[in-house]
Amino acid sequence: MLLASPFPDETLYGLMARNGRLRGDTLGSTTSKALFGHPNAGLHHDFPHHLEQLAINTLGHLGSVHAIMAQLTAAPYFLRFKPASVERATQDAMAGTGIAGLKHALGLPASPCRARLFLRACPQCMEADLGQQGIASWRRKHQLPGSLFCSLHAIPLLESSLRIDRRGKSKFLLPEDIGVFERAESPLLNDQGSSQKTEKIVR
Ligand SMILES: [Zn+2]
Repeated sequence: MLLASPFPDETLYGLMARNGRLRGDTLGSTTSKALFGHPNAGLHHDFPHHLEQLAINTLGHLGSVHAIMAQLTAAPYFLRFKPASVERATQDAMAGTGIAGLKHALGLPASPCRARLFLRACPQCMEADLGQQGIASWRRKHQLPGSLFCSLHAIPLLESSLRIDRRGKSKFLLPEDIGVFERAESPLLNDQGSSQKTEKIVR
């Protein structure tokens, strides 16, 4: 199986999106089924599941379930300062059918409505990825809750304005797929202070 290796700090979701491109898949469910053995286990950009099957199907190229979880997902952020029992339960859940029953233990609020697809990217990191790798992907540190700035370039992150819907859910997206980013532009982050405009950037 042709399998791309992760870029530095790339999310599993981004890696799978690139692998879908390499495989020539038009649907995310095709990629997810082939790699995770489940049609949408890999499409959860925060807490993917069926990682045990992913480790088997990728012949150990990505490491064990623990390694995948620790290096390619945001799980370590949510597990910091949590009891070992919660960490074990989370690893079991991500290895298997998902963390739905663990959200409270992980401090994740229930979604008030159909959630937005919170994918963020830094335009300068995207340019660097394009120059060095030929394609931009999602970086894990940009996806952590509360991330508003790129810690490398000290500029506001762009945030996808897409809602999770049937169309969004059925595709793996990369920064190049998202035509409209909304700049996470709080007045507190804006030198002009009083401006509350949300700038739309059309790529
Ligand atoms: Zn950056």
